[in-house]
Parts: sequence; structure tokens; C-alpha cells
Amino acid sequence: MAASADSPSFSTFLTQLVASISPGAKVLTEQSSTEFKDSLQRWSDIGLQIPTAIVLVATENDVVLTVKLAVELNIPFVPKSGGHSLWSTIGPEGFILDLSRLKNVSLDKERKTVTVGSGVLIKEVNETAFQHGLCLPLGNGNTIGVVPQALGGGISALSGLCGYTSDSIVSARVVTSSGSMITVSSSSHPDLFWALRGAGQFFGIVTELIMQAYPLSVLGTPDGTVWTGSIVFPAQRAEAVLQALAPMIADESAPGTGLFLIAAPPPTFTTCIIIIPVFFGPVSVAEAYYQSLISLGPLMMDCKPAFCSKGGFKRFAGAGMQKFEPSVWPKVIELFEELRRKCPDAGVTGYNKLSHSETAFSHKDVKVWAPESHAEVYRIEQEVLSLMRQDQNEEDEAAFQNWTRDEPLRRRYRGAERLEKLKRLKKEWDPNGIFTAQLL
Ligand SMILES: Cc1cc2nc3c(=O)[nH]c(=O)nc-3n(C[C@H](O)[C@H](O)[C@H](O)COP(=O)(O)OP(=O)(O)OC[C@H]3O[C@@H](n4cnc5c(N)ncnc54)[C@H](O)[C@@H]3O)c2cc1C
Repeated sequence: MAASADSPSFSTFLTQLVASISPGAKVLTEQSSTEFKDSLQRWSDIGLQIPTAIVLVATENDVVLTVKLAVELNIPFVPKSGGHSLWSTIGPEGFILDLSRLKNVSLDKERKTVTVGSGVLIKEVNETAFQHGLCLPLGNGNTIGVVPQALGGGISALSGLCGYTSDSIVSARVVTSSGSMITVSSSSHPDLFWALRGAGQFFGIVTELIMQAYPLSVLGTPDGTVWTGSIVFPAQRAEAVLQALAPMIADESAPGTGLFLIAAPPPTFTTCIIIIPVFFGPVSVAEAYYQSLISLGPLMMDCKPAFCSKGGFKRFAGAGMQKFEPSVWPKVIELFEELRRKCPDAGVTGYNKLSHSETAFSHKDVKVWAPESHAEVYRIEQEVLSLMRQDQNEEDEAAFQNWTRDEPLRRRYRGAERLEKLKRLKKEWDPNGIFTAQLL
């Protein structure tokens, strides 16, 4: 049974922690203070809870001390890095272990690796890497923590070139459920290394990752730019646009990726189709590749070479399908209109084709990801998904674990063997479910 906010063990925990952590760390308990409120800020207020304390650690040793003491006194906690997920929040029964002060980021030019502390955000790594002519396959949210994004598999615009974010993990420093600090790599605890690359948020606190970076030349341009922007069509042109787009999505050899959105942007808020291509190659080749779309005469097109080092473009998220079927989209546009009427927050979708090394991340075959939303849009979402699903078996559907923990585990970690291995490793490394019991 865990301690409650006003239990003696919670106050013992706080007193002992304050006495032992480093001078740069802080324990916040005054809920009305600006500092507490600021630290509680999240990307979204959905599911926000108010903890009894926020522990802002400043060193790896602070993490070790905090975990040891919390486990000893049975105080629940959740680690938080960038605060974008719905799972780094906890109520009065526990505390947030805030890693945002672990901001160390450094680069080894010779090995082309980047060392990233667990408080480092995507934009910070991208900036560092780019200055040295390097890039990494990181996701498209600049303020997301690199570590959690990578631990969950990680989809990025560069994934087709450099693999999923988790494929870039070379080694990790991990505080385990017993409070030990270990280094995990292909040669040190290789099974745990396998699990961290796709299911890493369930096994311990990763204080630091060493990640493989890639020369900007992988982008196929002399200056590290990619051809990107937006190509906008009125919704009424859906049929022609989809006919032109479908072969590009099916083309496994295309040096690019992109987003396909049904949206109603300002100033007119009229429903339209927005294609955001990301093409790795010179402008002339990109324009030739997209000619079948361009020749349809878009309402607007502003594609040009741009740096994609700040963030990337996700290829897909939510529920994953193995194919993109153009004929369903006119009906999807109708449902989008209905969604807009009933709920102003409408979503996006993207397309995808990738293959990389075997890790706990199980969705390397997924080609199309659809958006995942909350209760109000659930019915429409289900209708869109069943349209997109076509003849695909519902059992085969993927659910991206960086976006959802509501979907069954078998969809988030596909393949019975993979899930069995994860469960076995969870029992070995976190038998009491200190770091989210879900896999047990
Ligand atoms: C706008 C937006 C865009 C996105 N785009 C992409 C994308 O392009 N590609 C993609 O792959 N994902 C994407 N995501 C999903 C995102 O990568 C995940 O939600 C990620 O886990 C968020 O990390 P965070 O640091 O912001 O979140 P947090 O909420 O701080 O952490 C996420 C989870 O990881 C745990 N955790 C935090 N730090 C650690 C640690 N050091 N060790 C172990 N566990 C830890 C937390 O307890 C929580 O369960 C996007 C999300 C949003 C909101």
C-alpha cells in the first residue's frame, strides 16, 4: 500500500530527500507558489493531476537518491522530461521526478555521437548536431524530451534515412528500480538494451543516452536543406489529388516523406487538403517528382529548400495501417466536416515506409498512421479508422506507444514473442512495477 500525501512516510521522504540531494536540486511542495505552478506546466492540460511534491533533480546522483528513498518508503512517482505525454503526471499520492535540469548535451565529432541528458529537448539536440554538420532522426515536436521520445521507438521524417529514433541509441545510463546506476548497451545488459529501444519508459529512469548522429549529407543536398513547405488544394479536388498522391505514397524508393492533412486553416477556415512533402534531394528533382500534383494547380504552394534540423515531420501516429487507400478519403473529408462542427480540434494523418533493426519497437512495417484523439471525437475517429482499415485485420493494427497507453499491449508491442520477452524482462528489472506496472 503506497503512502498518502499526509502520511508520516511521505513527510519522512521529503525531509530526508531535502537533506541529501545536491544544492542545485529543489523539492517543491507549496502548490500555490509560482515555481510549483510553472513546474506543473504541460503541453496539454488533459489528465493533469496535482502531486504532493515536484522533485527537480540536478544530478544523476540526485536521481539515484530519490529513487532509492521513494522505493524504500513506498512513495509513488513518475519521471517527467518534456511533459507532453499523458503519463508524466500523478496525483496527491505521489511526486513528479522532474528531469528537466539534466541538460547536458555534448558531441563526439570523431564517433559522430551525441550525449543527451534526460532534460534535453529535441530542438536543443538538433541545434547542437546541426552546428557540426550532423543530424538525428528525432520527432517533430521541438519541446519534447529526446530521451522519452527515443525510448518509445520514435518516428521522424529522417527515419527512412537513419532509422527510428530508438535505432540511434548506442548506450544508456539507467537508474534501476533498486536504485542502482548501470550502463546499458549492446555489450552490457544486451536484453535490457533491446527493451529500452522501443519500450524504455517501463524499465528505469534513463539519465543519459549516447546517440548515433548522421552527416547532413544523408539528406542528399549540398547544404543540409530539404525541399519542404505546403501544397494546398480545395477539398473538392480530393479525388484528383488522391489519385496523384497514392502512387507516391506507394513508392518505396522515394527519397522523402510527408504529411497529408485534411484541415481548415485560417483565415477562411474552409476545409482543404494540405500536403506537406519532405523531399531529400535538389529542388529540380523534387519538383519533377511532385509534378503530377503541381500540375493540378494547387490553391497555394510554398515549397522551397529549408533546414529540417529543428524537429522533423512525423510519418504517422495513432492507429497504424499497412496501406493507404485513396478511395476512402472523400468520406473521411465528410467525417472531418462533421468533426469540425462537433469539435473544433481536428487531426492530421501522415504516410510512411520504413525498415530497420530488430528492437522492442514493433511497428517498422507500418505504412500509414491515423490520428488518435480523446473522448469527444472517439466515435468519428472509429468511423475513420474502420474506413481506412479496409480489408486489414483489426488484430494486425498497430498502436504507437509514444501516443497511447489505452490501446491493448498486443497492439503497442506487436508479436507474441516480443511481448513475452518484454514481460519477462520487466519481471527481472522492475518486479514491483515501480516504473509503470503495465507490462507485468
Ligand atoms: C505535439 C507532439 C508531437 C509529437 N511528435 C512526435 C513525433 O514526431 N515522433 C514521435 O516519435 N513521437 C512524437 N510525439 C510523442 C512524444 O514523442 C511522446 O509523447 C514522448 O514520450 C514525449 O516526451 P516528453 O519528454 O515530452 O514527455 P514526458 O511526458 O515528460 O515523458 C513521457 C513518458 O516517458 C517517461 N519518462 C520521462 N523521462 C524519462 C526518462 N528519463 N526515463 C524513463 N522514462 C521517462 C514519463 O514518465 C512518461 O511516461 C509527439 C507528441 C506531441 C504532443
